[in-house]
Amino acid sequence: MIDIKAIGKTEVLKGVSASPGIVIGKAFVLDTERPHVEEVEIEADEIEAEVEAFMSAIGETTRELERLRGGLEETLGESHARIFDAHLMILRDSMVIDGTQRRIREERQSAAFALTETIGQVTNAMERTRDEYLRERVFDIKDIERRLLLRLLGRKQKSLRHLDDDVIVLAHELAATHTASMHEERVTGFATDVGGRTAHAAIMARSLQIPAVVGLHEATSVIRQGEKIIVDGTLGLLIYRYDEAVLEYYQERQRTYEEFEKELLVDKDAPAVTVDGRRFEVAANIEIPDEVRAAISHGAEGIGLFRTEYLFITEDEIPSEDEQYEAYRAVVSLAAPATVVVRTVDLGGDKFGPMGAPEPEANPFLGWRGIRCSLSQPHLLLRQLRAILRASAHGNVKIMLPMISSLHEVRDARQVLEAAKQELRARGREFADNVPLGVMIETPAAAMIADELAEEADFFSIGSNDLVQYTLAVDRGNDSVAYLYDTFHPAVLRLLDRTVRAARKHKTWVGVCGEMAGDPLATLLLVGLGVDELSAAPAVVPEIKSIIRSTSYGYARRVAAKALKMKTGSEVRRYLEQIFRVKFPKISETEMIS
Ligand code: PEP
Ligand code: MG
Repeated sequence: MIDIKAIGKTEVLKGVSASPGIVIGKAFVLDTERPHVEEVEIEADEIEAEVEAFMSAIGETTRELERLRGGLEETLGESHARIFDAHLMILRDSMVIDGTQRRIREERQSAAFALTETIGQVTNAMERTRDEYLRERVFDIKDIERRLLLRLLGRKQKSLRHLDDDVIVLAHELAATHTASMHEERVTGFATDVGGRTAHAAIMARSLQIPAVVGLHEATSVIRQGEKIIVDGTLGLLIYRYDEAVLEYYQERQRTYEEFEKELLVDKDAPAVTVDGRRFEVAANIEIPDEVRAAISHGAEGIGLFRTEYLFITEDEIPSEDEQYEAYRAVVSLAAPATVVVRTVDLGGDKFGPMGAPEPEANPFLGWRGIRCSLSQPHLLLRQLRAILRASAHGNVKIMLPMISSLHEVRDARQVLEAAKQELRARGREFADNVPLGVMIETPAAAMIADELAEEADFFSIGSNDLVQYTLAVDRGNDSVAYLYDTFHPAVLRLLDRTVRAARKHKTWVGVCGEMAGDPLATLLLVGLGVDELSAAPAVVPEIKSIIRSTSYGYARRVAAKALKMKTGSEVRRYLEQIFRVKFPKISETEMIS
């Protein structure tokens, strides 16, 4: 990768790319800290006024959030807008309202202090849990507490509304309430100290196509309000205190990037056929139903992975069959006649829904996750399968199982699928007859028994994110071992090759839906290994299609064969980078593959 410091004088923070693109502008540092509240004892005749102030803060905040919810529903749709339901529920929560009022009346606390005490009591226990879902709720509750306190203390909160200039928002951690209003404000990019690629804010940025970087650790402490900064969402960098040479360099990259994106969109609907005539499918991954629009507008030929966790982790209750059906149906009918691969919920690891973990686990990624979680609660799997099957009446659906490591998991799930069909038949509900049931190949075990799995499963999709994590024993979310997370490691490549060979032998369709499928550097390799489909984030679909169109399958096969003989991941990476610079100079230039 190019060394920006070699271009001119500058400071750079390195984070995690959350949404690609480059933006240059003024920093708007959001104050996401809770205001400090002193303990004061109020007089008896002040009690009613304090209760009233508290209730009017509740009323005003509710109206403010309802307005935000409405705006979001109009632009991004209902599933984004539902983020606010959890917030609105906190504002109606009797523990919060009664608890605060009781403290004001009985303990003579000021409304502000009573509120912080009540919220503290609610969140203390939640914060100690390892349950990611509950910990995320704590963040929502604190966001609400901060909003109420700012009103009670009569302070104006820094708002994204009525901005005169375009800004890049910087925050320690962004709440859903902030990101949700970005579409209507002059926000051109954002960067946060904490958070990962799958945080709400990051998902929203990708949907809105705003360049974003997360996990910068110290951005809000080193960047001053109004300072000129550059967010490089493609490489996960925040650049500040730069000189003219760096600015010019980035202006040029921004222009090239934007022109290049436009150019790619021209041919977005052309199929991904190699120069020697072999066709590959290029599909999109979505996490939220509304993202299907972005998938279509970027030329995706289907939805290769519809992650359904979102439905389960943003709600306080497990969604009913009808709620799930509505979400699946919306995606399936919009995508039709293209196929949608709906993955049964992959909870566990770092994602927990309202059903929670049975008990804290020492190694959650090796624990109660994915298909294990679903099969141990068959009534919930049955409910989800009924909902997916019902959606199959509106288009083309495939069902996919996550975290498969043994044959019996596929057999058991197929039995539940048959039971779901029986129930729907008994109810007289419509569904497509032959909905394929496939598996993710994302554990080394699944790759090693791909031959046997191909006899049970109707299709494969390789989940490289987990396959790399489990093969190399490197936690995919752990910063300190990130240098060992190597997609091109020979062990990974050999498992990919083994999987594709088994699929070919059994005439089983095989796709790739991990991040590797969206990495331009990996395209030749994956195509050359002989996969049928690549499924990536909507925004990169046109680029992947264009790479496939400009190569021959014969050449890609030679590249894959050569890479498979290499001894280290870095050797493979260097080899692919070298090919890339020569064959795709334009992409190398825009993506800075050196
Ligand atoms: C994967 O593991 O590659 C995958 C696509 O699934 P997820 O990222 O949701 O674990
Ligand atoms: Mg996975």
